[in-house]
This record gives sequence, C-alpha cells and structure tokens, in this order.
Amino acid sequence: MAALIELKNIGRSYFLGNTELKVLQEVNLEIHEGEFVAIMGPSGSGKSTLMQILGLLDRPTYGTYRLLGKDVSKLSDDEGAALRSRSIGFIFQMFNLLPRTSALQNVAMPLIYAGVEHRLDRARELLTQVGLADRLSHNPNELSGGQQQRVAIARALVGHPKIIFADEPTGNLASDQADEILAYLQKMNDTGISVIMVTHEPDIAAHARRIIHIKDGRIVGDEKTRETKKKTKLPSVPEVRLLTSSLAVRWAEFKEFFATAWRGITSNKTRSVLSVLGILIGVASVVTMLAIGRGAEMAIRARLSSLGTNLLYLRPGAPSMFGVHGAQGSTSRLTLADLDALKRASSSIKSVDGNVSGAAQVVYKDQNANTQVTGVLPVYETMRASTPYYGRFFTDQENTAQARVALLGQTVVNELYGQENPVGTEVKINHINFRVIGILPAKGSQGPRDQDDTIIMPLATAMNRVVGNKYLNSLSIECTSMESMPEATEAIRTLMRKRHRLPAYKDDDFDIRNMAEMQQAMVSTTQTITMLLGMVAAISLLVGGIGIMNIMLVSVTERTREIGLRKAVGAPRRAILWQFLMESAVLSVGGGLLGVMLGGLLSFLLTTFAGWTAVLTVPSILLAFVFSAGIGIVFGFWPARKASLLSPIEALRYE
Ligand code: ADP
Ligand code: MG
Repeated sequence: MAALIELKNIGRSYFLGNTELKVLQEVNLEIHEGEFVAIMGPSGSGKSTLMQILGLLDRPTYGTYRLLGKDVSKLSDDEGAALRSRSIGFIFQMFNLLPRTSALQNVAMPLIYAGVEHRLDRARELLTQVGLADRLSHNPNELSGGQQQRVAIARALVGHPKIIFADEPTGNLASDQADEILAYLQKMNDTGISVIMVTHEPDIAAHARRIIHIKDGRIVGDEKTRETKKKTKLPSVPEVRLLTSSLAVRWAEFKEFFATAWRGITSNKTRSVLSVLGILIGVASVVTMLAIGRGAEMAIRARLSSLGTNLLYLRPGAPSMFGVHGAQGSTSRLTLADLDALKRASSSIKSVDGNVSGAAQVVYKDQNANTQVTGVLPVYETMRASTPYYGRFFTDQENTAQARVALLGQTVVNELYGQENPVGTEVKINHINFRVIGILPAKGSQGPRDQDDTIIMPLATAMNRVVGNKYLNSLSIECTSMESMPEATEAIRTLMRKRHRLPAYKDDDFDIRNMAEMQQAMVSTTQTITMLLGMVAAISLLVGGIGIMNIMLVSVTERTREIGLRKAVGAPRRAILWQFLMESAVLSVGGGLLGVMLGGLLSFLLTTFAGWTAVLTVPSILLAFVFSAGIGIVFGFWPARKASLLSPIEALRYE
C-alpha cells in the first residue's frame, strides 16, 4: 500500500543575502495512514519548517514529496489550497482564530472554500463534540486558551480531513488544558485520522505512537513507541453536500465574500466611516457642482431669450476685434433711410429697429435721477421681449407725431417714485415734459450695466427733441429664423456696402454682429465652466479613491495573519482577491450613494435658501455614482491583489 506521506531527500534552505541557511537537509520519511506521529527536537531544529512542507504551506528547496500517492511539487498554489481544504487540517500553537468573529463562524470558515452547503450545521456539530455547544457565539477574546484551541480543533476537523497537523498545539496552554487537547488528538487518531504533531517536550511526544527525532535539520531518530491501532478505517465521508451547479457555487461564494467583506467593514467602524468620507465628499461635490453649473446655464439661457432671439446687430464703424475699433477715418453713419432700405433687403429679415441713445436727467416732483434715454421703434416691444408689465407701449402714430411719451425702467421707477404708480404722471426729461405710459419689464444687469436704468421713448421724439442726433447709434434686425441669419447678414452687408459706395478694395465701414452666436458663446462658456467645476470636484473624488486605497492597504497589512490563515485552510487566490475587492467596492458604492444624497440635499438647500438655481440631472448623478464605484474597484484592486499573492506561511508568521 502506498504511503500517506513520502519524503525523498528533502531539503529546505533560507537565503539571507549570500549565506545559505540549511534548515532541513536530506530528509527521508514515510508516514502511513492512521499513524500518530510526534516530530520532536530542540527549538530551531526545523520541526515547524518540516511540518509546513508536509502541510503544503511551504515548498522544499529540493527533493520530492508525494502526498496520498501524488507528487505535489508541481501543484500550483490554488491546487495546493484545494488539496488542503479537502484532506488537511491544521492546529497551531497560537490558535490563529479570526478575531471579532464567533466560534461558530470560525469553525465554518474553511467550508466556504470547499464549497460546502449547511456549513453552520456542521460547525455546530463539531463544536458540540469538543464540548463548546454553549459557546457558539463567543468571540475568541471571550474564550480561555484551552477553549480557543478546542475551537481550532473543531475547525481542523470540519472538512473531514485525512491528516491533522498540529504545531506545538499545547505550547500556550496550562498542563490540565494541554491534557485535554492531547485527549482530543488521541480521539481523532482513534477514528482513523492520521495525526502529525510537532513538539519539543518529551512527555507530550509520549502521547504519540511514533516519535521522529530531528536535530539541526536532519532526522536523527525514529522510534515506534506503541503499535499503530490496526485499521480503524476512516468512516466514509458523511453527506458533505458539495455545491454542484457552477452558478450556484458562484452565487454562494459571492454571498460569502460579501458577508466576509461586510464583517471586515463593520468590525472597524471608525476606519470605514473615515474612508467612506472621502468618496462621499467627492461625489457630493461633483453632484452639487454639476447641478449649480446646469442651473447657471439655464438662468443664462432664460435671460438671453429676454434680450430677443435671432437678432443681428448693425453698428457704424469698422468691425471690431475684442471691442477695439478700427481706424477712426473709417467711421460711417447709419440713417433712417438705411433703416427703411434694410427692411426690404431680404426675405429673411422680419423687422428692423433703429436705436438712438443719450444721457438724460429726469425729474419728478422734487426727485431727480440721471439715466439713459433710448429712442426705439414700436417693434422693439416684441423684438426685445419688452411688453410693459404695467401700462402700454407707444404706437407708430405717436412715433410719427414725435409724441412726448416715455416708458420707465425699474431702476428709474425706484429712484423717482417709491410706492407711487408712475403711469399717467408727468416727468421732465432734459427739461421737456413727458407723460409716462408704461413700466418696462425687469431685465436685470448684463455685466456692469444695469439694463433697468433706462427710459424708452419713440425714436423720432428722441432724435429730434431729446438727444438731438440725426444719426442712429445702431440697428437691430430680427431674422425669420436662426438658419436664415447668415443669409440676412450677407444681404445686409451687400446693401450697406452699396449704400456707402464702398469700392471692393475697402473694408466694411460697419459692423454686423450675430447676437445668436454671442448667446451661443455665452452658453458654451457656462458649459465649459460647469465642466471645469465638475473636474475639480472629480479630483476630490480621485483623492477619496486614494484614501480608500490607503485604508485597504492598511487593512491588508493588519489582516495579514488572517489572510495567511484563510489560505492555509484552503482559500484560493481568487477568494482573497474578491474579499478585499468587495470590501473596497462596498465602501465606495456606499460612499457614492451617500454622496449623491448629500449632493441632492445641498442642491436643494442652495436653491431654497441661498437663491441659487441648482438643477440636478440624472446623467450627472449616474456619472458621479458610476465614477465612484469604479474608483473603489480600481483603487481596491491593488491592495486586494497584494493580499491574494501573499504566501500563506509568510502571512501566518507576519507580526
Ligand atoms: P522549530 O524547530 O523551532 O520549529 P523552525 O522550523 O521554525 O524551528 O525554524 C528552523 C530554523 O529556520 C530556525 O533556525 C529559524 O531561525 C530558521 N528560519 C525559519 N523561518 C525562517 C525564515 N523565514 N527566514 C530565515 N530563516 C528562517
Ligand atoms: Mg516551531
């Protein structure tokens, strides 16, 4: 019959710089099924190293190792883990239980990686066997040393192992508790499980049936103290329901990884909250910034549409770049005749308004104000969305008759009238009596200019009675549609060049501005600013992501021993990777959700109490949320991968 364990010329060396430290040399060993073996030797002789190689936690530097008749030197890490989870149980000197985790969960833990159903039932059964039925929900720090080691024994047995490795299992226990543990090992062996125990104490070793002496990394003695109990055949593995359907396995695993991640998060609440805070603030600021930007854009659109739509603006003088006019000599004049000609210049032109303005002093009773008067045509009312909110606009007849009627802007009304209704009253504008016939709608300020600090009157009245100017300051041309504006522009240019008799080699002596384009430019400017704000906020989100990465790295380092233990009992790399990835994903998704809520609340508060217009949009919320979740996964990946690549034995030894 093939041996359970067969070592041929095994050696293990550590390399410290250039010096080779030979910890095990030329070890040959055979152990058969059902044996109870003690590996005994002084401290530092290589016992633990040998046991770790036997338990597939470490690899020999040279030599061949056959376990259960199979050469295991070629096994990958994950294959080794799978073999451990199915045939090997470990008991350590330091118990190595998961902190802040109940005895029941500790015992059930290896079964996660074996893909076994009804884990808790099995764990409960084993804890009852080791006399801890009344301590199921106790955490390790609520148990005595002996009890903790009994939990560890239950954990070692939970996967129906063929071999149990125990490294100084009684080293941290008082003698009466030690005897109890040894009795359990004895009992295990009686059921047919092979037990391999490492110890440096002869009286502990005396409990075994065979003692292997080891010194300075070599086997120096091998004695059978008692006959191995003959063939207590291992009971055939009772109803271990392995999950079969791969999808079910995936789902069960997913739930398990999530539960593990959740335990990791909740077992250190302060740290979790702090790491979530970064993402939360980041997402909240992205959401709020985008909402504010969107609100500003909408406000600007609303204000621009009150200035009129599809407007061309014709001014005398050479076209200006950035507001700087060309040479003075090219200054031209715009007349009423130009205005009439323009009305017929193109079918794309809907209406034309002339405009003359100048400074004026207004007096009402004992109040006076300095403001600006503008003479316009009645078409101004519709063209510039200026239907008086109180009173009426003037008519064509009043314009032709140079009637002394005027409409006042909000600012002028406030300065002159207070609470009194101005409509119907008489005011003096530059010493001439005018009748107030209406109040203009409020337009707010555009840049530094207060658009409500104005008086509107008929164009003819303004030209002949108030400003005293025969020429127009500018012309506003309303086009039939946005699309017809380029055509109208061309028609106006051709007409004006003809009227001003400009030869082909001369530049235009007038300037046509497309107000729609300027409006578009303003809107796209706010959009750019919104994007910039969003990006600045996104950087804070990035910083939040780095915060999560930091926390995860700390978490990995802090839980190195836990990772080592999980791997020792059979966790494959994937499981560890998922556990930590899930943890950072939960943190960032949670932070993202809270951030969206906070951002929404902030937008609401800004709108309601600060008078800002903040408009939440679904895409911006989705963007912030997906981005934050992505950040958690991206930044969580590195620590998670780092954890998954730890060698189990290095991790277990980590201080
Ligand atoms: P013990 O018989 O006390 O269990 P070990 O097998 O733990 O002894 O260690 C045997 C020798 O190997 C010791 O001298 C120890 O210093 C050395 N050793 C163990 N682990 C390492 C390591 N990771 N790097 C270098 N030397 C090590
Ligand atoms: Mg040791």
